[in-house]
Amino acid sequence: MVEVFLGVLSVLIGYQIYVSFYFGGKKFLDVKNSVAIYTKNCNDLNEHIEELKSTYSYVRSINYGDSHLQDDSRYNMKRRKWSENKNSTWVHNCSSSVVKNANNQPFKYLCKYFDIKSDEEQVSKLEEVLNNFSAAEQGKVLLSNERDRIVSDINSEIPTLVSIFSGKRLIKELGFRDIDLSDLYFPVYTFQYVSPGGNSSSKCVIKLDLRNLEALLSYLGALVKFRKSIAGQRALMTVALRERIKARDNFTCKLCSLSSSTERNLLLEIDHIIPLSKGGVTSEENLQTLCWKCNRTKGAKIL
Ligand SMILES: [Zn+2]
Repeated sequence: MVEVFLGVLSVLIGYQIYVSFYFGGKKFLDVKNSVAIYTKNCNDLNEHIEELKSTYSYVRSINYGDSHLQDDSRYNMKRRKWSENKNSTWVHNCSSSVVKNANNQPFKYLCKYFDIKSDEEQVSKLEEVLNNFSAAEQGKVLLSNERDRIVSDINSEIPTLVSIFSGKRLIKELGFRDIDLSDLYFPVYTFQYVSPGGNSSSKCVIKLDLRNLEALLSYLGALVKFRKSIAGQRALMTVALRERIKARDNFTCKLCSLSSSTERNLLLEIDHIIPLSKGGVTSEENLQTLCWKCNRTKGAKIL
């Protein structure tokens, strides 16, 4: 029995030593270098997705008008600030009847107690959030697929033992950053009641995921009288509209002509030709398909 145990142990230790030597060796370094450009591309997309996820905190923390225009920090600086408070939660302590009412009419109470105005500017901001969150959700899937594709392409050059038993470490050693697949970045609003003694409590949680954001937009859209609306042209951003624009543009970037028919895992985004912040609106004429890189470059220039 003891012999078996010692045998297994020495095999395990032996394997660990072998793996460490392998990852430290020139052979692996060559493989790593051969895909370095793709790894970097994945890491850039990963970072971009994290930026998209932080749109909401940016919307909530900057006042409309002046402070938006005054914010002239360099793109990189701003990026760091965005990711600092990405996971946004708001809690309102209130009576149990407010909790009940909020549960019955979530958006009405959300606007009232968390100061979400029903005006055109707010609608535009939330449209941007919905647009970016949708791209982030798609980006997460495409990025994972792309990473798997790269790893499987080099599979024949990796020792079988390593790919079977050290898959995760292989991904790390190749230089891929972790992909955050969670949906923790969706903003969460909570109405909660706790009795003075703490024995009784209730709460109503409103999570602004894609479905709820879309519903909130249509709720606000019904309340807002749009100034720039030329009859019938103004639409509200929806997940379906994004897909429609992509199909219209043949799933091809309007700037660089990259297409998801040739690059299977290419993240395509929907861009407002005249940005919402410059008075553009969501209408089919003002929307175009861009690949994430072109959209990111355009965004950096405007900021
Ligand atoms: Zn492009």
